[in-house]
Amino acid sequence: MTPFPRPDYAPLEPYAPDRRPIAVDLSDNTNRWGVHPDAVVAVQAASAEDFLRYPPVYADHLRRAVAERFGVPMEAVSTGCGSDDLLDSLFRAAGIQGEGVRYLPPTFSMIEIFATMNGLRAMPLERDGGAGPEAPFGALPEPVKLFEGSPALVYLCRPNNPTGEVQPRLWVDEVIREAEARGTVVAVDEAYADFLDPQVEDPDSLLRAAAGSRRLVVLRTLSKVYGLAGLRVGFAVGAPEVIRELEKSRGPYKVNRMAEAAGVAAVRDAPGWIPGILEAVQVERTRLAHELVRRGLTPLPSGANFLCVPLTGASLTVEPTAAAVTAALRDREVAVRPFPDLPGIGDAIRVSIGPREEMDRFLNALDGIRA
Ligand SMILES: *Cc1c(COP(=O)(O)O)cnc(C)c1O
Repeated sequence: MTPFPRPDYAPLEPYAPDRRPIAVDLSDNTNRWGVHPDAVVAVQAASAEDFLRYPPVYADHLRRAVAERFGVPMEAVSTGCGSDDLLDSLFRAAGIQGEGVRYLPPTFSMIEIFATMNGLRAMPLERDGGAGPEAPFGALPEPVKLFEGSPALVYLCRPNNPTGEVQPRLWVDEVIREAEARGTVVAVDEAYADFLDPQVEDPDSLLRAAAGSRRLVVLRTLSKVYGLAGLRVGFAVGAPEVIRELEKSRGPYKVNRMAEAAGVAAVRDAPGWIPGILEAVQVERTRLAHELVRRGLTPLPSGANFLCVPLTGASLTVEPTAAAVTAALRDREVAVRPFPDLPGIGDAIRVSIGPREEMDRFLNALDGIRA
């Protein structure tokens, strides 16, 4: 008899983050300032036709809007039901059953799941060198090490979730060169690239490079700074021949009509709403980091809209574990994401950046459990 489900797939569990209602939710890095105003207008303008008719097969309106906004050809853009959908589709297109997906832990928790779902092997590469304030993440490996064991695909997350680390651009470029020389696909998840400091680097330069690369695919989401997590929209940029394979894997009709209209409006950002959000995130992130340091904690440097706060050695009235601290903050109506035993870091919480009032609610809750 044929086993059901597939034996390699059976151990997977449904994704189950704690989504109970709470006053201040800083657990999922969505935009705490709200939704792009033009996206709301676009959805409110929906007609009965928008319910009745199928959307454009491959979301060409959204592809065109992304292409125009970032100055890449439309054939270099794919879209999906969140960037999760694009990662899943890319893994399916790139990997032969049993091949590996390389990544550097700790990183996006869905990677191991998408690899297993698609019959691929998770190939985490642990980093050398321990924690410590100078090198909280340990050293980055030589780019060639990422390709040992011939993975089907290399995944990088920049800025990285859940640490906030921004790997040096020169290192990423070397990884891409190595990938191109070997013909291996490298996926760079830029879910948080919008938040990179434009004084330090152009946040969109890797995305534009992807359109002209043979093997680089850059993934973006509208779930974070654009405030559209509830609509599920993401996009990817890569060489047209790679994007074509990604589109085949993702399949038709993945972005619904309202989501596509909202996505087009948000990506265009005609009112220039996004820059104000980015500035507010920078200001509040700097202030929150400062307030945490004043309280004896050492948040990791972050290029994203969250801070990762290691708990080892914290002086609290509860055990300094991810689970105990998250539960104690929840009792005070603030949700954060717990990360038990992160490689090289230990137990930590991840706190999304939001408006001043929400940051103060978090700090008050934290003060309630300080020893
Ligand atoms: C939030 C996030 C995404 C986006 O997921 P969507 O499916 O677009 O909502 C992708 N990658 C990382 C690392 C994230 O944190």
